[in-house]
Amino acid sequence: MSSSKLSNNRAVRMLDAAAEGKYGVLGVVAYNMETVVACIKAAENKRSPLQILLFPWALKYSPLLVDFCALAIRKATVPVTLHMDHAQDPEIIKQASAIKAADGTPAFDSIMVDMSHHEKEENLAKTKELVALCHSRGIATEAEPGRIEGGEDGVKDTAELQGMMTTAEEIDDFVATGIDFIAPAFGNVHGDYHGVENIHLDYERLESIYEKTHGKVQVVLHGTNEFPPDIMAKCIERGVTRINANKLVLSEYNDFIAQKTGKVPLTQVIEDGTTIIQKQMEFWMDHIKSSGKA
Ligand SMILES: [Zn+2]
Repeated sequence: MSSSKLSNNRAVRMLDAAAEGKYGVLGVVAYNMETVVACIKAAENKRSPLQILLFPWALKYSPLLVDFCALAIRKATVPVTLHMDHAQDPEIIKQASAIKAADGTPAFDSIMVDMSHHEKEENLAKTKELVALCHSRGIATEAEPGRIEGGEDGVKDTAELQGMMTTAEEIDDFVATGIDFIAPAFGNVHGDYHGVENIHLDYERLESIYEKTHGKVQVVLHGTNEFPPDIMAKCIERGVTRINANKLVLSEYNDFIAQKTGKVPLTQVIEDGTTIIQKQMEFWMDHIKSSGKA
């Protein structure tokens, strides 16, 4: 299947299996330890593969968060990998790819080399160079041809730059850089849609992207806030493997924290908050059919 050069990479193997089995794998954005704990609990409870996503913000906040994730996924009884999402600065990619877990293997199984804020030629050239660096360290890579509009908490908002739908022609150029996963822009946006009625996906475009990438790289989905299960199912039918989840699994938790902090003991806020995230993930693991696949 894809990326024979990185066939031992756990993230590559996980998404290859998802493509083969036609199910999705959650990629959960973690900002704190509660989310990481919820990830492991949900994955183990549902016997589901899972990917934990950190933004470069995590390194700025504290590299200890990376260490914690690296330890947590190694102690998990099901396959869980660690991904750095939207690394938009070459320095961050160099830094993140050099971080080792306690066992000496790379802390990150995969890194998104996101040069989408550059014009296409520069995007491609930088991507190729950084993909080679990551691969030399055994780390899989992801890129974003076109440009997914908007921003998320911890990701630079490129709102001053227009979103650009991924074209079939771009796919070949990006596959040629050696990337392992591709995050297409087909009407999906980062941040909020402000209502399900505003989600307008170009499924034909997604289909043509899948046709072009099939057998070479895996397609991953960004921008899923407010997605209902039926839209998610349509994306998986069309070849999407990893599904990035931010507010999709964190919005209830965020509301809960806002309501309860200072009103009940902190330990209860942490425990109940963790359970809320876990339940949201388990709901999605059942819907995207990763439950029981670990
Ligand atoms: Zn994204």
